[in-house]
Amino acid sequence: MLRTQKLGEADRIITILTKRTGKVRGVAKGVRKTMSRFGARLEPFSHVDLQLHTGRSLDVINQVETLRPYGEALVSDYPRYTAGTAMLETADRLTVGEKEPALRQFLLLVGGLRTLVEGGHEARLVLDAYFLRSLAVAGYAPALSECARCGAEAVRAFAIVAGGVVCGACRPAGAAVPSAETIALMIALLRGDWQAADASEPRNRAECSGLVAAYLQWHLEHGIRSLKHVERDQADQPGGVRAGAKWGTREVWESAQDPHISRA
Ligand SMILES: [Zn+2]
Repeated sequence: MLRTQKLGEADRIITILTKRTGKVRGVAKGVRKTMSRFGARLEPFSHVDLQLHTGRSLDVINQVETLRPYGEALVSDYPRYTAGTAMLETADRLTVGEKEPALRQFLLLVGGLRTLVEGGHEARLVLDAYFLRSLAVAGYAPALSECARCGAEAVRAFAIVAGGVVCGACRPAGAAVPSAETIALMIALLRGDWQAADASEPRNRAECSGLVAAYLQWHLEHGIRSLKHVERDQADQPGGVRAGAKWGTREVWESAQDPHISRA
């Protein structure tokens, strides 16, 4: 569940990242009335099993079963809650089109939220690992061991516009000069090497977070510009609006990494 918006008096539009169909938006009717049957289950962070009815303009959510209420565990811990919120926003913005399969983004998000809730690693490290990996899945992995421009091995600086670390010759003006330990931490987070990441120094974590946030921001702004073009192109095409109504699309939100809730 990525986000919810109010619709009319009692309804909400729910944006969900699904395992099989990518990002989907659906209307949950009557959920803002008290005693709503499934309103309480449609909260951000929740990993749910739901049933969608294909409607004329928006799908309608008929049934919801909570698999993992991650929000309950996050809401009492502010650093973890804000990290989780940033994950949802990033997943929302990196999955551009609706109903385009985004299995790897789905698995990264579910895995990231679970790691946050388990509490075994610092929230900011979990968030930075999620940012780096979701950027990589979206095709924006930063170069971290060789110059992003010429491939030279002797790197000096980190330049967002160049796409990662750069050598002395390729270094653009204004490039940051992080310590080697900070770059090593970014590599560890991207690979999921928690032993190395947990052993890192606070100053390297702070430097890493600053670089990762700036790098993510740059790519999201870039992504949003292209998103506008995509939406305009789709709106111009005939058949862009679905007609008729059909029952029976069943979306199962599940994590393939967890055998207890996996249902083939
Ligand atoms: Zn170079």
